[in-house]
Amino acid sequence: MNENVILDVRRLQKGYRKSPVLKDVSFQIKQGHILGLIGKNGAGKTTLMKSILGLNTNYQGEIIFHGKKLMPSDETMKAEIGSLVDVSFYDDMTAYQNLKVIMMLTKAVPAAEQDERIRELLSFVGLESSGKKSVRSFSFGMKQRLALAQAMITKPVLLILDEPFVGLDPIGIEDVKELLRKLCRENKTSIIFSSHQLTEVCDLADDIVILNNGVISYADTYENMKSSGLSFVELMRQEGN
Ligand code: ADP
Repeated sequence: MNENVILDVRRLQKGYRKSPVLKDVSFQIKQGHILGLIGKNGAGKTTLMKSILGLNTNYQGEIIFHGKKLMPSDETMKAEIGSLVDVSFYDDMTAYQNLKVIMMLTKAVPAAEQDERIRELLSFVGLESSGKKSVRSFSFGMKQRLALAQAMITKPVLLILDEPFVGLDPIGIEDVKELLRKLCRENKTSIIFSSHQLTEVCDLADDIVILNNGVISYADTYENMKSSGLSFVELMRQEGN
């Protein structure tokens, strides 16, 4: 296997109560790449992300992470995958306190290093001056940046983001895009994100994967897709095989 491949999803199948959602899904992502996952509502994007995160079990096929089969019970491997799926906060607490609670609950960072790591994370996402404000009074964009800080606590090598731009204003969108680019550039983090916001996909994604009716109907680099003259909407309309 190509040593730059960080995640290799092989022939994944997953259904709910006998109705198949993912019928046969295979794709890879390389280190430091950003992959845009596109598809109509109900195509199975969240199901796919939850399977990678171990939030869905009982699937067929294999998910290989760093060359090893990912087991939903393997906490060490799971700590290397950060996510922005079903995020929640303690609304009465500050950004700092939210991060502290998670660190204490998950024991992801040694106690002596927690304060410094929290400062580093808040500075990375631009919330260092949110001070004593409780999360309840945060703007949507601030919450999204805090969610990213939460996802980065364990210094994951892979981030899985379900619709990271939903509800953000144009400035919030630019901030989050810049943060994600910075993560890729500085930490070589790989990112899989789903989005219906096609401008953001064009701006950010190195690779495109289109999920259609439970199978991948298109997977290529964004550059190749652009030069082939194909449009997202055309590709999303095509029925899966
Ligand atoms: P997407 O994220 O692309 O919109 P989802 O993965 O959320 O798609 O959903 C794919 C299909 O699986 C939908 O038909 C949805 O109703 C169904 N589904 C998702 N989660 C569950 C669940 N927990 N139980 C039963 N059906 C589900």
